[in-house]
Amino acid sequence: MADSYAVIGNPIAHSKSPLIHTEFSRQTGQDIFYEAILAPLDAFAVTVATFRQHGGKGMNVTIPFKQEACKISSRLTERAQIAQAVNTLAFTAEEILGDNTDGAGLVRDIVVNLEFSLTVKRVLLMGAGGAARGVVLPLLEHKPRILTIANRTRQKAYELEQQFSCYGNVLSGDYADLRGEKFDLVINATSASLTGSLPSLPLGIFANGSLAYDMMYGIERSPFLDFAREHGVTRLADGIGMLVEQAAESFFLWRGVRPKTDSVIGMLESYALKSKRV
Ligand code: NDP
Repeated sequence: MADSYAVIGNPIAHSKSPLIHTEFSRQTGQDIFYEAILAPLDAFAVTVATFRQHGGKGMNVTIPFKQEACKISSRLTERAQIAQAVNTLAFTAEEILGDNTDGAGLVRDIVVNLEFSLTVKRVLLMGAGGAARGVVLPLLEHKPRILTIANRTRQKAYELEQQFSCYGNVLSGDYADLRGEKFDLVINATSASLTGSLPSLPLGIFANGSLAYDMMYGIERSPFLDFAREHGVTRLADGIGMLVEQAAESFFLWRGVRPKTDSVIGMLESYALKSKRV
C-alpha cells in the first residue's frame, strides 16, 4: 500500500500541494498517496493525531497552523526551532519531527532557479509574520551586504532584527524609514497582495538590475509586482517557485529523494499564465 501524506490547513481547497507531490511521486517512482485535509480551527492536533493513527507518514502544514505544528512536534530541526514555525511534519513510531522548509525553498528559487546571487547584495524583506521569520536565517546564510526588514508594525521587525543580528548585518524599521535607500532584491513577505493592497513603499527603492519577488502566488495580479514593473524593474517573480521548492525539500525529508522542480514550476505557471516569471 502507498505511504500516506497530506497537507493540512484552513482553508485548504486552493492548495497546490497535492498536485505538486503527486507529480514528484510520478517523477521519482516513489509510491505515495497525498491528499488535502481541512482541519477545524480548534482541532488541529486531533486531526493530525487521527491521520497519524491511520498510518500517515507525514504532513505539510499551512495557514493558520504553523505555530501549532511547532507545539505538537516532539523534536524540531534547528531551522524550525529558529523560525518557531513548522511547515513539515514527519511521523515515526517514536516521534513527530517538525521542520521548516520555507526558507530553503525561497533561497533555492532565488539562487538556483532565478540565478540571482544574494552575496553582498542589499536585500529588503517586507513583512515580519510567519513567512518572513522562516526566511531570515536562510537569506543571511548567503551573506548579503545588508538585510533590511520593514514592517507596518515596526516593533515586529525590530524583534526579528534583535533575534537575527548575531547571524549577519540586519536592520529594521517601517516603510517610511526606507526613504533614500536602494535594494538589489525586494521580497514581499506580507499578505497585502491577498487583499489587493501594497505596503506604502517610498519611490526609488529599486536599484538597477534589481529583482522583485512576491511570495504570494495564484492571484490574478500582484500589486507589488505591478508597482515594481511600473518603476522599471524587469526581473519579477511570484511565489510559485518557492512553493514548489519548499515542497521538494519536504519530499526529500520524507523520502530521501530530491525531485526535479523545473517541470513542476513550469506546469503551475502554465495554469496561471499571469504569474509567469520574467
Ligand atoms: P502572517 O499573517 O504571519 O503575516 C502577515 C504580514 O503581512 C505581517 O507582517 C503584516 O504586517 C503584513 N501585512 C498584512 N497586510 C498588510 C498591508 N495591507 N500592508 C502592509 N503590511 C501588511 O502571514 P505569513 O507570513 O504566513 O504569509 C505572508 C505571505 O507569504 C502570504 O501571502 C502567504 O501566502 C505567503 N507565503 C508563500 C509561501 C510560498 O511557498 N510561496 C510560503 C509561505 C507564505 P503587521 O505585522 O503590521 O500586521
